Amino acid sequence: MVERFEVALNTPVGRLTTAIDVPTGLIPITAIVPVARRLGEEAAQLEIQHATEAGQAISCRIGCAACCRMLVPLSAPEAFALRDYVEQLPTDRRDLLLNRLGDTKDRIKRAGLWDRLNDVSEASKPIADEELDPINRSYYALRMPCPYLENELCSIYEARPAACRELLVTSPAELCQDLVQNPVTPLPVSMRISSILGLAWGTLTDSPPRLIPLPMALEWAERHEEESRRTWPGSALLDQVLDHMWRFLSQAFQTRSSEL
Ligand code: SF4
Repeated sequence: MVERFEVALNTPVGRLTTAIDVPTGLIPITAIVPVARRLGEEAAQLEIQHATEAGQAISCRIGCAACCRMLVPLSAPEAFALRDYVEQLPTDRRDLLLNRLGDTKDRIKRAGLWDRLNDVSEASKPIADEELDPINRSYYALRMPCPYLENELCSIYEARPAACRELLVTSPAELCQDLVQNPVTPLPVSMRISSILGLAWGTLTDSPPRLIPLPMALEWAERHEEESRRTWPGSALLDQVLDHMWRFLSQAFQTRSSEL
């Protein structure tokens, strides 16, 4: 049985209204991940519409994967959802992915970054941006394609992390060849879904919000298997997610009004 909720969210560029069906029984956190991503994508559509009306164009196109060399952070719920997605793949697809993840791990280890990334994924308190910045830069300096990238296309498109969905640019695509040196203009994001899911998970489990680097997400999910089996009433999970969305949106309104 599902219960239908009519959700309305005011974003800095318009109002988002949608109906969400949530199971009435107990569900794991992974069941709310698609709902959160859908709301994030609907908010992104409002941003795209706003940018288009202002005469800007989104430069991102199928086959352009320049940004798929960056370190992608996942929330704990997304790491569990990715594990579930990979587990249900046909064996040959799964083996291919796991092999590529193994190669990526070797390369990250050779660069001396694996342990630092592991520390980030298991941190017992939130990590400051200043601490993360050098790690992100060192990773990006490797210009290593994401292990889920195949022929410059995302091989897990429908299950890709929220951070991948949120990165859209209005600056010329060629500038994305060097995202550190070039003045790239990203489309504003009023709700960061991975942060929202991470904060919701932290509240539900009384644990610190985590940022799990994508290359180690499956290993992290394995280590935390026990936690992923917990369940909550569907409406309680939706409440948690919406509560953190409202907080993000309120912050987004403040930030944008201070920029005017
Ligand atoms: S998950 Fe997909 S979209 Fe995200 S960085 Fe990897 S290949 Fe790119």
